[in-house]
Amino acid sequence: MNETEIKNLDGEYIASTYGRLPLCPAYGKNATLTDVQGKEYIDFTAGIGVNSLGIAPQEWIKAVTDQLGKIQHISNYYYSAPSAVLAEKIVKSSKMKKVIFSNSGGEANEAAIKTARKYSFDKYGKGRSKIITLIDSFHGRTITTLSATGQEVFHNYFFPFTDGFEYLRAGETETLKKLLSDSSVCAVMCEVIQGEGGVNVIDTEFLSEVRKLCDENDILLIFDEVQTGIARTGSLYAFENIGVKPDIFTLAKGLGAGLPIGCCVLGEKCADVFHPGDHGSTFGGNPAVCAGACVVMDTVSKPEFLASVAEKGKYIVSEISAMKLPAVVEIRGKGLMIGVKVNGSHKELAKKCLAEGLMVLTAGKDVLRFLPPLTITYEEIDKGLSILKKVLG
Ligand SMILES: *Cc1c(COP(=O)(O)O)cnc(C)c1O
Repeated sequence: MNETEIKNLDGEYIASTYGRLPLCPAYGKNATLTDVQGKEYIDFTAGIGVNSLGIAPQEWIKAVTDQLGKIQHISNYYYSAPSAVLAEKIVKSSKMKKVIFSNSGGEANEAAIKTARKYSFDKYGKGRSKIITLIDSFHGRTITTLSATGQEVFHNYFFPFTDGFEYLRAGETETLKKLLSDSSVCAVMCEVIQGEGGVNVIDTEFLSEVRKLCDENDILLIFDEVQTGIARTGSLYAFENIGVKPDIFTLAKGLGAGLPIGCCVLGEKCADVFHPGDHGSTFGGNPAVCAGACVVMDTVSKPEFLASVAEKGKYIVSEISAMKLPAVVEIRGKGLMIGVKVNGSHKELAKKCLAEGLMVLTAGKDVLRFLPPLTITYEEIDKGLSILKKVLG
């Protein structure tokens, strides 16, 4: 099919929940992608932080297809090696206790929210179910995770939303103390770096303070690492970098390297909250997806790999700084999660980048966001940056 045929078919039959950009990717290699017309693009998006190992990574393809050739799905009534092996890798690397597999970030967050509420219910009974999240956060698109998302624009149309969420501005420790004073809160949930909200790095001192207040009040701290996890920020999990350990954290995007997976990781306190029948997912822990995710974990958890992510991130930031582009207001983020705050419309600039052969994301109101594959080469980075210079210069 040619580009026009694809666009027409999509427009006619897929509900228009997305404002699509004019690109039909056909195939690619690592961070270089070719569209159906044969034009090449440098990928600074990785499918929104999903293609952590780039496009068509050979070892991952082999693991997934080998598993597909054996058995493609087993219901959760039975045991399966790939999910058990993956669970061990995640638990040991994070020093947590147990995992719950699902298929997306939103679902992983649902599991985290359910865990926190059940932990509190089991121990304190009804009425201690509130969860505090941050303003400008993003936690997913289900009715409950939309409630958890601290952005007013998401709290529309679909009423009634799930009750029991309150929003806090990052840094406002005194407000948090007030919110905690009526004994109705069971958890605080936040991203370590807010992705969709604008690549906002949450202050480490504030997060330490939150950890302390949670400990004092037996409140669970949940980190949504759906975007920051799996080496994105230069450490396997972003929380390792800040020395604040959550009671629960969630993973999704980069873990599957392109196949759907979500994972809710439970620490000591809440490892045994669930009993058979309390929670479930038909596809959660799918063996082919998990076999691929095992390759991701083995690849990205190597110290040299993590160091390379941090180095590439620093290189991109320093190269953009050195361009002294008038449109650039601020560069922020960590590792290969980079936000460039710009003057002018970030959406228009993203479109211009695309027209020139560079795929970028936007975030917040005025931020260009880069989440390239973690395996992007310096040659690909340089190609992408030269396009960025041309567009923003
Ligand atoms: C993308 C994202 C989600 C939602 O993940 P889905 O897989 O789309 O459900 C949740 N939290 C954060 C931080 C995200 O970046």
